[in-house]
Amino acid sequence: MSERPVRVRFAPSPTGPLHIGGVRTALYNYLFAKQHGGKFLLRIEDTDQKRFVPGAEEYINESLAWLGLTVDEGVKEGGEYGPYKQSERMDMYASYAHQLVSEDKAYYAFDTPDEINAMKERLMANNMAAKYDAISRMSMKNSLTLSSDEVKEKLQNGDDYVVRIKLPRNEEIRFHDIIRGWIVFNSSQLDDKVLLKGDGLPTYHLANIVDDHKMDISHVIRGEEWLPSAPLHVMLYRYLGWEDTMPQFAHLPLILRPDGKGKLSKRDGDKLGIPVFPLEWHAADGEKSSGYRESGFMPNAVVNLLAMLGWHPSDNKELFTVDELVQAFSLERVSKSGAKFDIDKAKWYNHQYLMSATSDELLALIKDDLEPMHTALGQEYLVRVLDMLKEKVSFANDILPLGEYFFRLPTKYDEGVQNKKWNSEVANHIHNYVDDLIANNWKNAAEMENHLQSYADNSGINKGTLMQPLRWAISGQAGGPPIFEMMELIGLDSIAERVKIARLKHAL
Ligand code: GLU
Repeated sequence: MSERPVRVRFAPSPTGPLHIGGVRTALYNYLFAKQHGGKFLLRIEDTDQKRFVPGAEEYINESLAWLGLTVDEGVKEGGEYGPYKQSERMDMYASYAHQLVSEDKAYYAFDTPDEINAMKERLMANNMAAKYDAISRMSMKNSLTLSSDEVKEKLQNGDDYVVRIKLPRNEEIRFHDIIRGWIVFNSSQLDDKVLLKGDGLPTYHLANIVDDHKMDISHVIRGEEWLPSAPLHVMLYRYLGWEDTMPQFAHLPLILRPDGKGKLSKRDGDKLGIPVFPLEWHAADGEKSSGYRESGFMPNAVVNLLAMLGWHPSDNKELFTVDELVQAFSLERVSKSGAKFDIDKAKWYNHQYLMSATSDELLALIKDDLEPMHTALGQEYLVRVLDMLKEKVSFANDILPLGEYFFRLPTKYDEGVQNKKWNSEVANHIHNYVDDLIANNWKNAAEMENHLQSYADNSGINKGTLMQPLRWAISGQAGGPPIFEMMELIGLDSIAERVKIARLKHAL
């Protein structure tokens, strides 16, 4: 068999903000496409106009763009297989449903909602599965039970109808899933799903199969929640005569709560402080949901951490650039079982990316938090503060609050150090030491460090007893970045002023 070009699609419905599970689906599709020199499509599945949420499509585009998941063919990008939005393809679906009816693979059903409910109640009362299927359909009002004249009359009268697939009563449906191996369902487990709704519009199932076929999709990589629909989809390919070009399936595991008990929902996320959306989302009712971007995550860190939620490489490597992921990724190494979300690990990833961020990237990450005092000392000064403090935090936006004393005199002083380690003797030593620095213009870190050693030796005290009080006098803090680097940056003049202020704070 000649190799089929890889064409995969991410097919979200614009019904709200994209869950990170969806983002991971998009990422795996993207990686798979790139690895095989194939195409990554974005198809907007908006057949269900009732669930349409304004802004959701833009949100999807913005999320993918933020993460660098470039779309090859889509609504914005165009392409030879368009349109890429189902609401613009509505005239393509109905004829397939009618074709299936004429071939006795689907049927018209005229039942009212009440009649369907009554049927379901009857079945439930007898402890049977409440579904419209090969057995129950024979007691319902459809083109299998009505005479052809009655059907014709109803259609001519414009009576409401839907088209349902006609599944066999008891037949094995087998298909191969790249992640899960052979999957077997029996048609008796399924129901005769609606393909075409009363308004003449297709359901998800029909539109999805028609589009995957017409867009020549080679692999369907999607969430596990679609596994129960897969046998119906296989039957649709078979009925429509498209089985030989049916895409290969890969159903991805769920992203679970940290305790492994169930899917990570928005509510769990709120409780545990884990964003479940890539970007902040403002719902029409005013409810705000937090996003990775606004929480200070870097896009490459999110890509990396999402890649590892359900997939693992053959070695223990944890940090991957996108290009490395493209090389290393394989669907065969995606696990069948759910992937537990670990917030500490997520922060660890962000920290790693923060550590290797360039100055420009760091500046971009904190640009919204900048106040005049942060820029007053110049960009180079600011960048040095960011570089010095980034190892202390998981998120870039925690850096400036942590390092406020770099930009102005300390406003808070650690009481523990003040009460236990700050006294007039220590204060005098520090004053003398700083005086020496000024007198000799010893202003770089090495000079400052050397002199603290010689000052301590000459005074017969331990250098260690001066270190924390020195830091405290300058920054107000008990801990922080390497002290002499910090001092070099703050500069002798400001150090002298700070020490003067601190000397007034004797615990005498
Ligand atoms: N529109 C479906 C969704 O919202 C697509 C499922 C599929 O990939 O087949 O996830």
